[in-house]
Amino acid sequence: MQTPKKKILIADAEIEFLQALKSSKKAEKFSLEVATTGSDCLKKMESFKPDLLIVDFMLPEIHGIELLKTAKNNQSLRKTGVILTSYHPMIQNYQIALKLGANYFIEKPITQTAFFELIEQFFAGTLNSIPFPPRKKPVQPYSPSQMPKSHNPSYLKLWGTRGSNPVAGAEYVRFGGNTPCLEIRNGEDLVIIDAGSGVRALGQILPDHPGKEMHILLSHTHWDHLLGFPFFYPIYQSNREIHIWSPVGFEKSTKELFADMLAHAYFPVSLDDIQSSIFFHDLRDGQSLSFGSIQISTHYAFHPGPTLCFKISIKNKTIGYVTDNEFLMGNHLPPKQSEKKESLFTPYAGLLSFLSGCDLLIHEAQYRDEEYLDRVGWGHSSLSNASVLLKKTGIKKWVVTHHDPRHTDEYLLQKQQEHISTMEELKHECLVQFAYDGMMISVD
Ligand SMILES: [Zn+2]
Ligand SMILES: [Zn+2]
Repeated sequence: MQTPKKKILIADAEIEFLQALKSSKKAEKFSLEVATTGSDCLKKMESFKPDLLIVDFMLPEIHGIELLKTAKNNQSLRKTGVILTSYHPMIQNYQIALKLGANYFIEKPITQTAFFELIEQFFAGTLNSIPFPPRKKPVQPYSPSQMPKSHNPSYLKLWGTRGSNPVAGAEYVRFGGNTPCLEIRNGEDLVIIDAGSGVRALGQILPDHPGKEMHILLSHTHWDHLLGFPFFYPIYQSNREIHIWSPVGFEKSTKELFADMLAHAYFPVSLDDIQSSIFFHDLRDGQSLSFGSIQISTHYAFHPGPTLCFKISIKNKTIGYVTDNEFLMGNHLPPKQSEKKESLFTPYAGLLSFLSGCDLLIHEAQYRDEEYLDRVGWGHSSLSNASVLLKKTGIKKWVVTHHDPRHTDEYLLQKQQEHISTMEELKHECLVQFAYDGMMISVD
């Protein structure tokens, strides 16, 4: 008795390729069926019940991966082998296919002879591992320019000053639209706080420091403080050692959060594929860290989820950096009345003593008082409440950052005037400056 012919279903949009396969002499020993679309393939998978399904990754209508999943989840097709084909052998596609149970992956174009050889090997049981494409050296998107030698060696630079989400457009030219990123530099020593969209441009100008550690501290892991990380050039340099310090997460570890952010569904390079060495560290309230000549200490900020603010000591200066902090939550009193109502400050005593004595405070005041009326609990301060914080700490220089994405240049210029009047009202002599993307603060 003759053994029945093995049934093969080949799904591919290239009709000529399919016709050539069907008319090939080598095809005679198989029972061959073809499909040119995903739905056609799905129907034939059910009716034809192939022993082997060979499906193009980018089959029209239904993706090859979806068809692979359907085959693997269908009891009547549990013995069906699945081979995926593709003109684009991207490693992440291979990884997904492998995870979902694909038996092989064919890179196209392929000769008929090689094609049928693979089929023979499959049925002989000698096709046992998916050949991964060689890992290509990453293409350097831009050539980072070297920092001029004469560059001011001690400074803070705000690479992103927008809160919540990046903005762009003619109405945001003056203050900029990148989300938080602060560069702290003292000669060779460098610390970065937050990896919002501003960190991308910073990554482009950092000189190569083989073996030199780099430290990124995160105030918290909300999107606006993280979203630039995948585009931060140094993570693609194999000679880099990058340390990420982040508040201990409530639901997931920082490493898990980064792995999620770099999952293939969102980004082509996974955390495991990043060339630099990345180390994750927990950051807690009350911690003090030394990075060469830069010292940083932490305190809780009032914001949803675990969030920290920072005090930076560099040279003889102390600078507070607080991007997301709802001070005097729910308080709508005018600043003159607030400052006298001592009971308001009880929850904030620790924060006030942490920040007191700073030479400069970089602190948000995201909402004007009217806006704050229906934004209580959103994690950001009103203009008046933030002004009271400055008065209470006695700090004489305030750089206002984390601007609301709805606030255009014109709006912010008006808001700046309102800040100055509020300080006058509070009788607190304080220089108020509005942060903008690229703002440099010298600490010499
Ligand atoms: Zn934020
Ligand atoms: Zn936040």
